[in-house]
Amino acid sequence: MPKDSFNREIDYLRMSITDRCNLRCVYCMPLEGLRFLPNAELIQPAEYEMVARAAVSVGFHKFRLTGGEPLLRLDIVEIVERLTRVPGVTGLALTTNALLLPELAEPLKRRGWAVSMCISTASIPRPSNARCDGAPSTKSGRASWRPKPRA
Ligand code: SF4
Repeated sequence: MPKDSFNREIDYLRMSITDRCNLRCVYCMPLEGLRFLPNAELIQPAEYEMVARAAVSVGFHKFRLTGGEPLLRLDIVEIVERLTRVPGVTGLALTTNALLLPELAEPLKRRGWAVSMCISTASIPRPSNARCDGAPSTKSGRASWRPKPRA
């Protein structure tokens, strides 16, 4: 089991699955001058599954997908599906700005796993500011689904 320098067991691994985002929060991404990886160079769903299997074999059991904005991946449903199939994975979470959640929540839920989401309310537009600005009033919300029995 991996441990940190305080001898705490680490069973949780974050995987950044894209460098792109559909927002430009001032504390995160500039409006201009960004260069993103071409899609062809991104790690593929089968490779994430391979990484997850290797991570589970050394003691990791919970995974969080981050970005950029992970829901921008056109193959996000396949990635989630593959990771939830890996024996030993007991938790899968997404950090998202939730802009694409209306179209993706249902397909992700249908994968039959408790996917928890950390949704940043920094992405909710405010009348005074078209860009999210990381103001102190920013809060995080959390939504989760109960697992359905696996087939
Ligand atoms: S939503 Fe998240 S990843 Fe996207 S620009 Fe804002 S802080 Fe960065």
